[in-house]
Amino acid sequence: MFDKFREECGVFGIYGHPEASNLTYLGLYALQHRGQESAGIAAADGVRIRHSKAMGHVNEAFDQDALAKLPGTQAIGHVRYSTAGDSKLLNAQPIVIDCMHGSLALCHNGNLVNANEVRDALVRQGAIFQTSSDSEVVVHLFARSREESVEQAIVDAVSQVRGAFSFVMMTKDRVFGVRDPHGFRPLAIGRLGDALVICSETCAMDLIGATYVRDVEPGEIVVLGAQGLKSIKPFAPAPQAQCIFEHVYFARPDSYVFGESVNENRTEFGRRLAREAHVDADVVVPVPDSGVCAAIGYSEASGIPMRMGLIRNHYIGRTFIQPQQSIRHFGVRVKLNPVRSILEGKRVILVDDSIVRGTTSRKIVRMVRSAGAKEVHMRISCPPTISPCFYGVDTPRRSELIAATHTLDEIRKYLNADSVAYLSLDGMTGAVSGGRTKYCTSCYTGVYPVAFPRDEAAYLQLALKLNADAPPVEGQGEPEALQRVGPDTGATIPDPERDPVAG
Ligand code: SF4
Repeated sequence: MFDKFREECGVFGIYGHPEASNLTYLGLYALQHRGQESAGIAAADGVRIRHSKAMGHVNEAFDQDALAKLPGTQAIGHVRYSTAGDSKLLNAQPIVIDCMHGSLALCHNGNLVNANEVRDALVRQGAIFQTSSDSEVVVHLFARSREESVEQAIVDAVSQVRGAFSFVMMTKDRVFGVRDPHGFRPLAIGRLGDALVICSETCAMDLIGATYVRDVEPGEIVVLGAQGLKSIKPFAPAPQAQCIFEHVYFARPDSYVFGESVNENRTEFGRRLAREAHVDADVVVPVPDSGVCAAIGYSEASGIPMRMGLIRNHYIGRTFIQPQQSIRHFGVRVKLNPVRSILEGKRVILVDDSIVRGTTSRKIVRMVRSAGAKEVHMRISCPPTISPCFYGVDTPRRSELIAATHTLDEIRKYLNADSVAYLSLDGMTGAVSGGRTKYCTSCYTGVYPVAFPRDEAAYLQLALKLNADAPPVEGQGEPEALQRVGPDTGATIPDPERDPVAG
């Protein structure tokens, strides 16, 4: 695997179309990059909700027969990479329940920071949980709500959870889109003829021929039903914290996310990087695919030509079998191969979007040198990643983030590069509309906009990710119990690598 943060989930919903489940399949296909472990679709025909989910990619999880068993004019779907709970089929979504408010299907993108706290309280009241997913607490809260209407019961349920959530929910006659008050994860609304669509990224709309209308606003619930689109704003206003990593790496460059073009922002990161960290060189080479947009921007602003000096093999599937140890010397070459005619004798600027542990970057620098490059200058189109994410993104613990534990010169030496430079925080936030007032930058600053609750197992794991001996984070919303969690607490701290609860 490449050394990257991993996106969590993609969600899709459609109301008012006779081919709802087929279009949801296509929508999930376009969102496949957001989760490859499981896929699921629920469809409603006005009377009942049917659903199907399976492990694997969307095209493995569904065939025509499976989709034919999901009739109705409304559907929702989910692709998942497990950020909370493990990756068993039981944890795949949509979660579908029947309760006194009727049937509900739910898909979640994000991570609830108080899920264990809420879960513990519900278990003490007799609730029985079937999954280890944080999202299940919401359907329990919905089922237990004393509100009379379905709409109010949904408002009641989502008002009790905190953290990052973009939900797409469905009853037998309506589809709901819910975005947390900080707006961590994206959620866009589109139109396809008379039908309405909600999804994580606009690339899903493009595939089905839908037109982007607007985003679900942070703190907004949209209800898609017979009367069209209805908007509810039940949450108190909160500082916005849209995930800037969507623009750095997660989202597809052909998408609009948070109302902005990912391609344009990513290219602008590269232009700014060139202005901040110029170096004389012969050629700009992107690390494909993630570094391509930034390399285009870097080349544009520096005047140094860009060439595809590394070629990616796109056909490495999840089922790639490692050959026996004795011939396992190819390392990263199974995915990337250098182009000697472009690199030999050249001073190369290698552009990538981010470095997490540094292990893959080191191999790529070695590969470029082995193809004859005279100099290798590493340029990264975001600031140093120094802190884990707790809002729905899979990240390693702080001690594994090379920029958290090493100086710039130590990183350069580790990568065996001639120079290393990152885009500055101001450079990155200056490229996106609204900058720091609208975006979360916690993985670059260690300052967290939503605090984590005390005394819950999930929190201990979050603290472990930050390291017990790490300096306390600063600023509003710091994890208040951080200083208390350490080797002397006597608590059994599970290994988040083996048993991920949050990510
Ligand atoms: S911590 Fe980083 S990855 Fe997580 S939501 Fe904030 S910007 Fe995105």
